[in-house]
Amino acid sequence: MKRFDEFVAAMTRVVEEEREEAKVLARATPLLKNLIAHDDWLAAEHAVPGPDTYRQYLLYRDPDARFSVISFVWGPGQKTPIHDHTVWGLVGVMRGAERCSEYERDAAGRAVSQDCEHILKAGMVEAVSPTVGDVHVVANALADQPSVSIHVYGADIGRVKRHWYDAKTGEARDFVSGYSNA
Ligand code: FE
Repeated sequence: MKRFDEFVAAMTRVVEEEREEAKVLARATPLLKNLIAHDDWLAAEHAVPGPDTYRQYLLYRDPDARFSVISFVWGPGQKTPIHDHTVWGLVGVMRGAERCSEYERDAAGRAVSQDCEHILKAGMVEAVSPTVGDVHVVANALADQPSVSIHVYGADIGRVKRHWYDAKTGEARDFVSGYSNA
């Protein structure tokens, strides 16, 4: 699809030309906003929710793993565990709405709730990274239909070793997410 191919080409230029995270995010944010403003390019197979849990479909992986693009699909009531990313990422909601709850890592590496929630609506983009805030829970904010967001990360995120955090103790556990479409 031309629109998605153009996004990938523009993102490739960004990672070729910028090394600083802040500059990458500043240039990538309007590109992702433009991509999610036009909901006519995502293949139907990459917008299918799982019966029990959210899904993440790899849409594109840079040959040098400098970035990856993923569609996240949440069915009604579905949410992620508390998790981090360890690399920069951008989350852009294309359909529905998502509820984001923020956490911080304490000195012992445990996740601590910031008692801070916000709703991302279709068309909105937000950044995550160890510098701007990296630990959160994302849930479908809609009770009766799926929500779909498009994420860009500064790595082949499905292969990055990162962490889940226990909801009661905040203890970190290693995880590698993989992709729903392997
Ligand atoms: Fe996340």
